Amino acid sequence: MKDIDLIVAGAGIWGCTVARCAAESGRKVLVLERRSVTGGNVRCETDPETGIEVHTYGSHIFHTHLDDVWGFVRRFVDFNGYQHKVLARYKGRTYFLPLGLTLVNKFFGVELTPSELPAFMSDETHKKELFDAFFRGYTSKQWGKPPEEIDPTIIQRVPVRSTYDVNYFNDYNQGIPLSGYNSLFERLLDHPNITVECGREFSLEEHRSSALSGVPVCYSGPIDRLFGYRYGELPWRSLAFEQEKLDMADFQGTSVVNYTEAEVPYTRIHEFKHYHPEDRAVMSCGKTIIMREYPRAWKSGDEPYYPVNNPESQALLERYQAEAAKVKGLVIGGRLGEYRYYDMDQSIGKALEAARAITGR
Ligand SMILES: Cc1cc2nc3c(=O)[nH]c(=O)nc-3n(C[C@H](O)[C@H](O)[C@H](O)COP(=O)(O)OP(=O)(O)OC[C@H]3O[C@@H](n4cnc5c(N)ncnc54)[C@H](O)[C@@H]3O)c2cc1C
Repeated sequence: MKDIDLIVAGAGIWGCTVARCAAESGRKVLVLERRSVTGGNVRCETDPETGIEVHTYGSHIFHTHLDDVWGFVRRFVDFNGYQHKVLARYKGRTYFLPLGLTLVNKFFGVELTPSELPAFMSDETHKKELFDAFFRGYTSKQWGKPPEEIDPTIIQRVPVRSTYDVNYFNDYNQGIPLSGYNSLFERLLDHPNITVECGREFSLEEHRSSALSGVPVCYSGPIDRLFGYRYGELPWRSLAFEQEKLDMADFQGTSVVNYTEAEVPYTRIHEFKHYHPEDRAVMSCGKTIIMREYPRAWKSGDEPYYPVNNPESQALLERYQAEAAKVKGLVIGGRLGEYRYYDMDQSIGKALEAARAITGR
């Protein structure tokens, strides 16, 4: 243990990427993870009966246009080429998101061409109808606000596709690891210079008085917890998931359906077998696993999912960042450390940057 050069606290995608890069540069890395398993919120569990990979913290689809990130991640796993599509259920009918020709034509019962769509969409009545159907209720559930309080101008900022492309993401690289998400973390951490200790929570106090005091730390836990919440807790939105195994081969015919009406208490239903269309055993299994997603107000101790960005939380964040800047050898990153929503590819991109700054390569 004496010859450790770097401590990485948190074995999510940010921490595992930093650990791997540092290990490859010759540093001896100790990874501490407070949970009993690695992977952070991308962690999955495979159902032993059906072989279905369940995304424990909600659906995770890897998508990126960052070539260095795509190159890095594919050193460890191959992807299955899954292309994400999201459907929206509104008043008993199902539409393809995002906003584009497919949705608009079905919703209004018209047959617009690409060149006709912009004029149609500039009509305030059409915008309002789309906002009320697909954004007002969904956003109010997500952020726990009454539907009347949702700003109708958000529809102005929603990009409108003038094509029939129903691919949810614009990124050309997409997919789910063929060998499952957990294998990505196992492989990232599988290096002779890396030691992993799960069930170990990093704390600054303990570190300062330990035999490893003075060893630099890359920390991706909550920044406010690192400093004992001395200025108060940063606010989050949380989620609750309700999982069900059903005696049917297919529940909804796709991986994610959004429920956009305010009256339906959940925002989405995930059906995980559709993430692995290449897996014949899973696809032909007579059972399926679904998960309903319920947005929740966050209270201390709940799982943090989405940061609540407002002037107060930003001011609080800056106070903690100022504390962090005073600690020699401390690098803070990841979604909890930076108090920012990051997709997986952005987390990896940030981790590669952090690792380059540490290793100089
Ligand atoms: C509902 C939802 C759906 C998402 N879907 C997608 C998607 O489809 N595609 C996509 O690209 N991204 C998606 N994301 C984003 C994705 O989850 C994040 O990019 C990713 O989890 C960030 O990784 P991380 O390492 O920063 O944080 P985390 O995954 O949270 O990892 C942090 C780790 O640090 C550990 N830790 C905390 N404190 C300590 C401590 N003191 N000591 C030791 N360990 C500690 C935690 O236990 C955790 O394991 C989604 C996010 C949410 C909320």
